[in-house]
Amino acid sequence: MEKIKMNTPLVEMDGDEMTRILWKQIKEEVILPYVDLKTEYYDLGLVHREETKDQVTIDAANANKKYGVAVKCATITPNAQRVEEYHLSQMWKSPNGTIRAILDGTVFRAPIMVRGISPVVRTWKQPITIARHAFGDVYRATEYRVPGPGKAELLFTGADGTTFRETVNDFDGPGVLQGQFNKDSSISSFARACFQYAVDTRQDLWFSTKDTISKQYDHTFKDLFQEIYDAEYREKFEALGIEYFYTLIDDAVARVIRSKGGFIWACKNYDGDVMSDMVSTAFGSLAMMTSVLVSPDGNYEYEAAHGTVTRHYYKYLKGEETSTNPVATLFAWSGALRKRGELDGIDVLGRFADALERATIDTIESGVMTGDLCAMWEGETPARKVTSLEFLREIRARLDKALA
Ligand code: NAP
Ligand code: MG
Repeated sequence: MEKIKMNTPLVEMDGDEMTRILWKQIKEEVILPYVDLKTEYYDLGLVHREETKDQVTIDAANANKKYGVAVKCATITPNAQRVEEYHLSQMWKSPNGTIRAILDGTVFRAPIMVRGISPVVRTWKQPITIARHAFGDVYRATEYRVPGPGKAELLFTGADGTTFRETVNDFDGPGVLQGQFNKDSSISSFARACFQYAVDTRQDLWFSTKDTISKQYDHTFKDLFQEIYDAEYREKFEALGIEYFYTLIDDAVARVIRSKGGFIWACKNYDGDVMSDMVSTAFGSLAMMTSVLVSPDGNYEYEAAHGTVTRHYYKYLKGEETSTNPVATLFAWSGALRKRGELDGIDVLGRFADALERATIDTIESGVMTGDLCAMWEGETPARKVTSLEFLREIRARLDKALA
């Protein structure tokens, strides 16, 4: 079979620990035999981030802006223990945070569903994608531990000198105080990313906040979403037969649980943080969760939702073959290849991505899987636990058959 040709390179961001091992295996087993792969390679492994004083992360994010599509391996976010382990000169920031700040994006997370592993919520038949606004609110708040009696005020001084001043509370004793903010520009780009993603994936979009209580703050989110929908997306949605609707967060929670799935749920920063953990747990496993960062100007960065699987890596270093699940990382590759094909008009790249994902799901549905999935397996045939490499070779065998 002739290998599929590419025009534009993918931005390839390598990473750390067990996922770095999986990265190489995925490429060798299920990508390189079929695709004449073109990538611009950036090593975001912690060793190289240290060597470049983290410049490599910035370069990779800028390359993502230049070429439009990137695929990223999980990376270590350093903490005090990692500073020691890797002899770091600084506690480098989270690469995902750096990339997000440069691309200004929204993160979409969706579970990969297979027959034989059912969501905890029995009615869920299709994936629920969480779209999390990743800027502001409680994550950028100013806080104060109020020591005792006193008056707290909210003061805004405009550039033109006009002021707004209101009492927050007259404290009669100790308490707590917090000031949070968001910006119209960020909320609007969040809204556009959600509408565009709904159009791209042809799914309904739900958006929820607490606007009945937060009449300025949350209401602004609701209004900006509605304005952008009416002005830029209503026609596109109607043409595709998909729906946008806004509802209170409490109502959304109840509806989500009773739903069949198959929609995007856009959440403010804190809601998205909490709800994505709940939804992913209910769907089964972080190792079966894809994640894509979409920027308002149409750049895409695909990755797995899980981390570098450190515990497995230490076993691997001792010479043990591990049964680490490569599915989410593999889907990051297929997602990026599909998007590259779409942008460059190379249909065969998209068909390859579809076949690769199908072969992966077929492998699991036939009862062959990594250890993490065995525990959740409810299929008729007993599960056969395989190593990561054996699993990839099983996928490859099915892919060969499908492509023959
Ligand atoms: P983790 O790497 O997601 O792993 C936590 C546990 O979840 C693992 O020990 C394993 O459980 C299970 N698990 C996760 N992915 C799996 C997979 N593909 N196959 C099988 N089991 C899987 O989270 P962590 O241990 O908290 O973090 C490790 C490192 O990853 C940290 O340095 C953190 O900074 C980094 N991190 C990076 C990203 C990212 O780059 N996007 C995201 C999160 C964390 P068992 O051990 O029980 O088998
Ligand atoms: Mg969280």
